[in-house]
Amino acid sequence: IGANLARTVALFGDREALVDVQGGRRWTYEEFGRAVEEVALGLLAKGVAKGDRVGIWAVNCPEWVMVQYATARIGAIMVNVNPAYRVHELAYVLRQAGISILVSSVEYKTSDYRRMVEQVRGRCPALRDVVYIDDPTWTGLVRVGQGVDPARLAAREALLSCDDPVNIQYTSGTTGFAKGATLSHRNILNNGYFVGEGLGYTEQDRIALPVPFYHCFGMVMGNLAATTHGACVVIPAPTFDATATLHAVERERCTSLYGVPTMFIAELGLPDFATYDLGSLRTGIMAGSPCPEEVMRRVVTEMHMSEVAICYGMTETSPVSTQTRRDDDLARRTGTVGRVLPHIEVKITDPADGTTVPRGEPGELCTRGYSVMLGYWDDPERTAEVVDADRWMHTGDLAVMDEDGCVRIVGRIKDMIIRGGENVYPREIEEFLHTHPKISDVQVIGVPDEKLGEEIMACVILRDPAETLTRDELARYCRGRLAHYKVPRHLRVMDAFPMTVSGKVRKVELREEAAALLD
Ligand code: ATP
Ligand code: MG
Repeated sequence: IGANLARTVALFGDREALVDVQGGRRWTYEEFGRAVEEVALGLLAKGVAKGDRVGIWAVNCPEWVMVQYATARIGAIMVNVNPAYRVHELAYVLRQAGISILVSSVEYKTSDYRRMVEQVRGRCPALRDVVYIDDPTWTGLVRVGQGVDPARLAAREALLSCDDPVNIQYTSGTTGFAKGATLSHRNILNNGYFVGEGLGYTEQDRIALPVPFYHCFGMVMGNLAATTHGACVVIPAPTFDATATLHAVERERCTSLYGVPTMFIAELGLPDFATYDLGSLRTGIMAGSPCPEEVMRRVVTEMHMSEVAICYGMTETSPVSTQTRRDDDLARRTGTVGRVLPHIEVKITDPADGTTVPRGEPGELCTRGYSVMLGYWDDPERTAEVVDADRWMHTGDLAVMDEDGCVRIVGRIKDMIIRGGENVYPREIEEFLHTHPKISDVQVIGVPDEKLGEEIMACVILRDPAETLTRDELARYCRGRLAHYKVPRHLRVMDAFPMTVSGKVRKVELREEAAALLD
């Protein structure tokens, strides 16, 4: 990763690399490369050895990106810690990964990061040092680095291999406790490169990133896709804010915008949406969870993202396995997650016996190639549950591959509803309910039922909170258009869904709440 950044600096040194819109700061590649080197030297001065874990616990900011590249340059393993964590989870990650130096935000909104770090410090013996961004300890890091001979950095880099671990990236924790995927330089650098290549990135591109850096969507599909092609990363705000995002796209003339579907829904739903000039947009990525067709259509027509891609992947696979192409028609870009990326294999198997199912039939998506993680950090048993002896990653996602190799995600094995022996895929019902004029967002879950084992519940957010929607009204809407066994028996109108920081709905939590409500 360090060598690749050096190449980009040499090729595109005078082009912009990073823009912090709210902080009003910007770096060219030349300047960014120097900033990264300063941090790398600072970490060397603090005694960080090859393979040592350096944690980063911060909302989106330029220093986050500098730490990402600085740790890669010195062969340290950067551990991205979820900025929504609280003391208990922080202590868990610090200990589980054996973090020796933590770089942290001081505070953000209601999160007092410094106070939380100080609370757990005594319980984490491996933690030697904490550097706070926006604090004298950050300038102190740079200052101690000035005393280090740059030849030491070159000597360190000579020791590194592309198969060395570079990150422990935590999964979103959508289905349970987040897992730390250990990824190598080879894993994520290639993936960032091929994702960017698929989008047609060049040094002319400017990518607005409202997704958290702490997640692979931001740090690989965003940051690494940008630096491997000389493109620029634009940070609209420290955390997702729909208004700040559209403002950044307009002001910085961004050509690309990322988001999970709920972010695009929020942006499209802004009362002053029509007043933003989004004409500079050409492409972007919608990923992380199923992308409703209706939302996709509006992103293409009203946000001008005619080449927007859908990506499918998971943290454990660096992350992207399949991606739609620039020239795919809208049907492909709404109905599928595209085709497998170069140098990756995908097969769809019967979860019961592992045999490959015929094209067009659903099964578990398995993937193999440079992208499969080294393993879960310090957890060989759990790794063996998902990566088999032939290095196939079993994703836990249900998918169908058509004759052209386009993949459609049907749902997660864990989310599938079994109603009276019939398999029901929530995704299909969600897509349908998105067409209801009163519904802004919807999640379909299985809830316990005495007779049928499971029944279907629709959890909806209404477009107009003053409106109402009844179960009968919803049933009438479904009648004749959805098979009777797929019609939701229960309806829950909500203001918001429980979310992970990477913007995914935590269906586990919805299910627990619903089961308690029905009890
Ligand atoms: P955890 O593993 O901790 O429960 P997670 O699986 O949500 O959380 P990630 O690695 O961030 O953590 O997400 C990967 C998952 O996201 C995939 O396994 C898949 O279920 C879902 N996903 C990713 N992209 C898409 C997509 N384009 N369409 C549908 N689902 C997607
Ligand atoms: Mg997962």
